[in-house]
Amino acid sequence: ASGYNLLRDPRYNKGLAFSEKEREAHYLSGLLPPALMTQKLQEKKLMNSIRQYQVPLQKYIALMELEERNERLFYKLLIDNVEELLPIVYTPTVGEACQKYGSIFRRPQGLFISLKEKGKILEVLKNWPERAIQVIVVTDGERILGLGDLGCQGMGIPVGKLSLYTALGGVRPSACLPITIDVGTNNEKLLNDEFYIGLKQKRATGKEYYDFLHEFMTAVKQNYGEKVLVQFEDFANHNAFELLAKYGTTHLVFNDDIQGTASVVLAGLVASLKLLGGTLADHTFLFLGAGEAGTGIAELIALEMSKQTNAPLEELRKKIWLVDSKGLIVSSRKESLQHFKKPWAHEHEPVNNLLDAIKAVKPTALIGTSGVGKQFTKEVVEAMAALNEKPLIMALSNPTSQAECTAEEAYKWTKGRAIFASGSPFDPVEFNGKLYVPGQANNCYIFPGFGLGLVMSGTIRVHDDMLLAASEALAKQVTDEHYAQGMIYPPFSNIRKISANIAADVAAKAYELGVATRLPRPENLVKFAESCMYTPNYRSYR
Ligand code: NAP
Ligand code: MN
Repeated sequence: ASGYNLLRDPRYNKGLAFSEKEREAHYLSGLLPPALMTQKLQEKKLMNSIRQYQVPLQKYIALMELEERNERLFYKLLIDNVEELLPIVYTPTVGEACQKYGSIFRRPQGLFISLKEKGKILEVLKNWPERAIQVIVVTDGERILGLGDLGCQGMGIPVGKLSLYTALGGVRPSACLPITIDVGTNNEKLLNDEFYIGLKQKRATGKEYYDFLHEFMTAVKQNYGEKVLVQFEDFANHNAFELLAKYGTTHLVFNDDIQGTASVVLAGLVASLKLLGGTLADHTFLFLGAGEAGTGIAELIALEMSKQTNAPLEELRKKIWLVDSKGLIVSSRKESLQHFKKPWAHEHEPVNNLLDAIKAVKPTALIGTSGVGKQFTKEVVEAMAALNEKPLIMALSNPTSQAECTAEEAYKWTKGRAIFASGSPFDPVEFNGKLYVPGQANNCYIFPGFGLGLVMSGTIRVHDDMLLAASEALAKQVTDEHYAQGMIYPPFSNIRKISANIAADVAAKAYELGVATRLPRPENLVKFAESCMYTPNYRSYR
């Protein structure tokens, strides 16, 4: 056994934390300087150096280099400093990294499956060194965050998401597989860039696209079996809904943009009822934006209402209204609507702007999912405040520049009466001497715990009831102390504990529905979840 190889393998390398005995036993003597460091001290050293970078992208590159050098130390940093490092490995910095992925790219961190591999996808999967894969995150790069089509450079997203599966949900790094499907790009800038790393052709569509994805999905199941979770990420909405519906009955699939978003937002709504009063079905919801996020959330709200009231889904949907780029979705538009909007085309005369829609529908909750910033103007927010004692306002569009309004605006324009949450983080706001802590409806609350719950129970299909279970599990983590500050999400610092609780409730639902294959069912699912979670502390090699 060569010590040199040990130092080169990020999974085993500990750098200066190799003990004297390990250095002797593994032929490391002389390959390292004499000093010994604890993992804690290494962590301190690296955090110091990362904090010295002024440019977020430099921090990102430093973290990726650390991951390539010393995997456990990378995860130790990420877990212990989650609030500080999340914006680096995830939105917003990961977006910039994708835009520049061509020049950052050094070593493959995941699999690239391009149209060139057509007919050979199974072989390509076998080139990946790990066999026991539990979670795949796959993108086709067509709608990366709010940045549009980044083609093959979308790889930053599956890589980032999976590092959060490990850091926040405790899925082992070796069980995670990032995949980018390259069917071309319609991004002219990339097509004309001599350094672009992807296929230089327009996107394949229609039958060619769906046949290729079918080959991929078939190969995944053939190679990894039925219990591997495939998370679709940042597909354009015209494909996202279709892929989810198509493979939902044959594979373990999850779309974070649709389902993860829905679950995290529903959790905030359920929690907010403590402050607002009433049940979910007592409220009226108005969305600005009727895409993956908007219609996904709307559907899950209706489903939760139906569980609570036993009333038919079609009736309950009438409490939820959506506005898209053409105005309020109403029945007279039904013929021309995309199929995912049709259930929301209620009887009403046409209304073509948000303010008039508020006056017509009289919502108690206003939710922004259009991707367009500054749409919750003073007039809009004041209209909500005129209708409601405590207007619920969620400005979910990311990144921060696209938020429908800021936390400060929401509190100021409602004289401190709003209950506010957003997609991107906002600092607490002081208004009339009181401190308001805005909630962040961050998908990271849900997907890591949700995925852990599925894989630890060997679940083979995702069911909407599991999304509801995840929402309720998250809402339960909000305490009276949090409510007193207007918070409808728990502090992120407890995320591993939150994930374990979500995993337990998701798994419990899977066992109840008979789709969990890990038998017998563990007695205490929270304890079981915790025992399954990867921890990044060094192991000793003796
Ligand atoms: P999407 O599928 O493209 O949907 C966007 C929707 O907004 C479409 O219905 C579109 O209308 C509508 N829209 C666009 N411009 C509009 C305007 N000026 N007025 C009214 N409606 C308008 O996108 P998505 O995946 O749902 O994402 C939307 C936003 O939500 C993004 O900014 C994303 O970052 C954010 N998001 C946040 C979270 C979170 O906070 N946890 C999670 C997921 C997504 P048409 O259908 O008529 O084109
Ligand atoms: Mn996404």
